[in-house]
Amino acid sequence: MKKVFCNLFGHHFSISKKVTQHIKEYKCIHCGKQVTTDVNGNLSTLTSELKDINATLEDIYQRRHRAEQQVA
Ligand SMILES: [Zn+2]
Repeated sequence: MKKVFCNLFGHHFSISKKVTQHIKEYKCIHCGKQVTTDVNGNLSTLTSELKDINATLEDIYQRRHRAEQQVA
């Protein structure tokens, strides 16, 4: 039933995880569908492959962010 709602009105995504400043993971509050911003800035279905990529990006992003804080 919830998926019918999404088909009629579209998904209602809310941010589930901030990966980097530009890449975020979203989850539909109605059906639980997960999507993520891909490298082109479009929303893609969050596959296990993209999840791995995001985990790597998050790691790099946080490491760089931490390095910047130490310099400042
Ligand atoms: Zn949905």
